[in-house]
Amino acid sequence: MDRLWAPWRHAYVTSVSGGPIDCIFCEASSGSVRLQPDPARDDLILVRGRVSFVILNLYPYNSGHIMVVPNRHAPNLASMSAEEQAELMTLTRDAEIALTEAYAPHGINIGVNLGNAAGAGVLDHLHVHLVPRWNGDTNFMTVVGNVRVLPEELGESAKRLRPIFERLAAEDA
Ligand SMILES: [Zn+2]
Repeated sequence: MDRLWAPWRHAYVTSVSGGPIDCIFCEASSGSVRLQPDPARDDLILVRGRVSFVILNLYPYNSGHIMVVPNRHAPNLASMSAEEQAELMTLTRDAEIALTEAYAPHGINIGVNLGNAAGAGVLDHLHVHLVPRWNGDTNFMTVVGNVRVLPEELGESAKRLRPIFERLAAEDA
């Protein structure tokens, strides 16, 4: 598991001014974040619910690596309200459907890392990772080592996934 989750540990965003920001998810939720190094990638959010949203990971482990995140800065499931719990699960379900439709993966990892010891990249703001998996992709990444090979540009991922989330959101409503 260590190898799989390790790529998510590094902080990957700076503020517009170039300094570190406190919480990438709070910044993303408020719409004020500027993601580096490419400002054109500002809009990584795929869909917004009432109390949570779905966002592309700027440094995906695989094509289609997305996260379901509550708007509220809170560290764990224990601190989620009933509404947040319900919508996180609904959006996680929608994310599963969207990834399956868009990428036809062989499998999907769905996971939450709580705390440093578990490899959380953002410690105090809960987020649910979804990573599409293909047979053999772990072996491939091991061979490649630290070099990040991204089979698909993030803008392309957004174009594929956003319409599916929009359709599902209309169905959920
Ligand atoms: Zn936060």
